[in-house]
Amino acid sequence: MRLVIMGPPGAGKGTQALVVAGVLGIPHISTGDIFRANVSAGTPLGEEAQRYMSAGEYVPDSVTNAMVRDRLSHDDCRPGFMLDGYPRTLEQVTELDMMLQSDGVHLSHVVELTVDKDEVTQRLLKRAQDQGRVDDTAEVIRRRLEVYVEQTAPLVAVYREQGLLVQVDGMGSVDEVTARILAAVDA
Ligand code: AMP
Repeated sequence: MRLVIMGPPGAGKGTQALVVAGVLGIPHISTGDIFRANVSAGTPLGEEAQRYMSAGEYVPDSVTNAMVRDRLSHDDCRPGFMLDGYPRTLEQVTELDMMLQSDGVHLSHVVELTVDKDEVTQRLLKRAQDQGRVDDTAEVIRRRLEVYVEQTAPLVAVYREQGLLVQVDGMGSVDEVTARILAAVDA
């Protein structure tokens, strides 16, 4: 099972990706988590990524693509994977296609979690309080939602055209949403 999960910041992608990957026994690959781990460890990649993350902007495609290419080449991804937060731009879509093509495999489904805008803003502000993420301030949240609409929302149409898109209502309890995702991907 090779899955991508997408949706606006605050849609619950990270939570759901982790649970669903656990149920399916595939690695959960979150580009945001990998960037944050590099920021914490003070690596050069982390230093570069932080400049963009703290402003709510995307890390450049060249950096992000190289990181994902490396991660997907690990043996644990052979049976499948759950990509969370990647691809986020059209260039990343093309790059992911090439990575998979060179391995002779393809995506199984792209899950889009849908939520309403007020709800995601509330969730993000709550997460800011709970986890203290530097990119969860009101101003940066606004920018992250804008960037999502500009750069990532267009990917939905691309994946719909490819017949890969499944839309899942992201409102409700964690368990309810997980059950919907598993049903949508025929797991
Ligand atoms: P996330 O945890 O998925 O919300 O990601 C947090 C931040 O990491 C984003 O706001 C971006 O700055 C950066 N990031 C994560 N994934 C990507 C990606 N695929 N392309 C560019 N930047 C990304």
